Amino acid sequence: MDVTRREFLAGAGRLGLAVGGVCAALSSPAWLKALGRGARDVYAATKLDELARSSPLARYWISTETEGDHCSACHVSEVTYDPAHRHSEALIKCLLCAQACVLRAGERGRCRARMNVSGEMRSLVYGRPITIHVDPIEKKPFYHFLPGSAAYSLATSGCPLHCRFCQNWEISQIAPEDYDARYTAPDVIASSAVERRAPVIAFTYNEPTVFTEYMLDIAAAAKTQGLRCVLVSCGFMNEQPLSDMCDALDAIKVDLKGFSPDFYRKVCSAELQPVLRSIRQISRRGTHLELVNLVVPTLNDSEAMLSDLCDWVAGELGPDVPVHFTRFHPEYQLLNLSPTPVAALERARSVAMSKGIHYAYVGNVPGHEGNHTYCPGCGKMVIQRSGFLIGEVHITHGSCEFCGTKIAGVWS
Ligand code: SF4
Ligand SMILES: [Zn+2]
Ligand SMILES: [Zn+2]
Repeated sequence: MDVTRREFLAGAGRLGLAVGGVCAALSSPAWLKALGRGARDVYAATKLDELARSSPLARYWISTETEGDHCSACHVSEVTYDPAHRHSEALIKCLLCAQACVLRAGERGRCRARMNVSGEMRSLVYGRPITIHVDPIEKKPFYHFLPGSAAYSLATSGCPLHCRFCQNWEISQIAPEDYDARYTAPDVIASSAVERRAPVIAFTYNEPTVFTEYMLDIAAAAKTQGLRCVLVSCGFMNEQPLSDMCDALDAIKVDLKGFSPDFYRKVCSAELQPVLRSIRQISRRGTHLELVNLVVPTLNDSEAMLSDLCDWVAGELGPDVPVHFTRFHPEYQLLNLSPTPVAALERARSVAMSKGIHYAYVGNVPGHEGNHTYCPGCGKMVIQRSGFLIGEVHITHGSCEFCGTKIAGVWS
């Protein structure tokens, strides 16, 4: 079942409910939801005009109009590139993520969050969060980063991917003009996190890469207030923006959605290789990294695929990157599938441990023994969890209290 944006807008009442539950103050106003479809489309077009006029310049793009040698960057694979050639119209290429959108004036990228406005790339989502919520950091999930911390979590609209199982599709698959999000400056976000007593700001829910400029500015403001910042991402960004994120952020969680190019193409409208490149880059930079693999019945749960995934993780990243195998629940366009059997998650965890991965978890199954952290030295439980709740903790100065083995992570 494909849901077009138009059909989706037609269900705006439901949308208001879904996101309003998270952050009523920032969701579509009631009068907008009450409008007919035609009037809502006119409203959206006007709103988009307004956004296009008021949005700040984006980073990470090149244009055929820019002085210098920029055009050659788009023609890298052409054997006979003529440096003297001219384009009949001005084009922009976005360098933020691996979708590599090329946009004519007035067009938007696949994420809907960036637009060619009169030959310049503008970020339509800068300063426009549509949901803000304080969550336990375990919900992201981060299990090896300041356990038990409150994470002030925010998202804008937009995502470069289109995952058929997306749990946050009401946010990720909509356009910025579908919401009446008021402008919120980066330092206001940081102060608000302090007021809510959250030591961590999490960029999450949609794909935060689409609001990289806002994220980096918030992270700079957060640093001055002594806060840490973490990112929950699909890992589809390009190397330069990711390098800037690694400079600014304290931890990154990447969804490694399946270990097959075919799965990425058919189920996520994306590619596997850029994600692997990002994971490797984060690991080499030494930024705290955790991985999630949502195990979707029949699509990415084969023994062979899980085994290849674990081989790659163990071989490329070593044994210390936590890997969460999380349970799928029927969502969005995959309502026909059943939730992941717990036995499949247990099997995935066993495969990971048999490949030498030290911290493999069963996620989205509260109370399961695979929620806890075990010491790789003595095998004893060092962090007890049930879902997002923390129980006993037996880690002191980053080491197991029982045998002194170092437990990988950021603990203070
Ligand atoms: S960030 Fe958006 S506009 Fe840029 S390449 Fe990715 S999908 Fe396209
Ligand atoms: Zn060209
Ligand atoms: Zn131990």
